Amino acid sequence: MTTAFFSHDDCLKHNMGPEHPESPERIASILAHIADTELQQNLDWVRPEEITRDQLLMVHPESYLQQLDLMAPTRGRVFTDPDTSLMPDTLRAARLAAGGNVQAVDMVMSSQVTNAFVCARPPGHHAERTKSMGFCFYNNIALAALRALNFHQLERVAIIDFDVHQGNGTVDIVSGDERIMMCSSFQHPLYPHSHVHRQPDNIINAPIEANCSSAEYRKRVESAWLKKLQDFRPQLVLVSAGFDGHRLDPMAETNLETEDYRWLTEMIVNVAHDHANDRVISTLEGGYHLRALGESVVAHLEVLDAVY
Ligand SMILES: [Zn+2]
Repeated sequence: MTTAFFSHDDCLKHNMGPEHPESPERIASILAHIADTELQQNLDWVRPEEITRDQLLMVHPESYLQQLDLMAPTRGRVFTDPDTSLMPDTLRAARLAAGGNVQAVDMVMSSQVTNAFVCARPPGHHAERTKSMGFCFYNNIALAALRALNFHQLERVAIIDFDVHQGNGTVDIVSGDERIMMCSSFQHPLYPHSHVHRQPDNIINAPIEANCSSAEYRKRVESAWLKKLQDFRPQLVLVSAGFDGHRLDPMAETNLETEDYRWLTEMIVNVAHDHANDRVISTLEGGYHLRALGESVVAHLEVLDAVY
């Protein structure tokens, strides 16, 4: 049994400009770092297909999908918020990223692979049900969760979001759905400045102060999440894997090390081992320092690859 690794060249065609941190070079850096390791041979490389319209409708209403389709330009770019723009190749890349997440659920649920990492862009966790923002258009991890619940008829799915920014889009979509437990850690205060207080019981927040050390981070996350996850007994663990909490990352002020991502992944696979038959699907969110991103994803994948 192996780790499926989803990637597609067309996800690199979405390019919001030379100064934009959410760049195609992020994927290139991850692939270059993997090439130097045994992961290159060990991973099961999969090219995703585009998500279907019906599958997108699990999360996003038709009116929102139409709005994006109408905005997508045939040349140049159109901004949906000051940081996020649509180009001719954007929605295909977004459909491939979302499609990879749905296919990863299907492959893991049918025991073709033990776990999966979707190395695609644009990311998804800031995309709300009816609003694109923060470099995101379709909410990839929520689509994966709904695929597991609706199609595979699971009863309990956990979403772990360790991106340094709070996954407001995922919160918007899963709040109050008791089939889903969302555990997240994020620097606070920081973009997107929402959804931190007065959350429903299925949203477990671990806000982190700027300049937080590795040791403080680990303690905070373990005490906020672990017992809740064990009590919830997820049948599948989904991960919004953002690596922008790294100390080298320009987007935030937390001080995580590459080894903290290994530690986080070990905690996640342990929960999945206890309750979910080792089933984990992780999807790329943020991470903008190219070397730190490549090294951190390799650490994350090495833990996933060691599960069998
Ligand atoms: Zn982020």
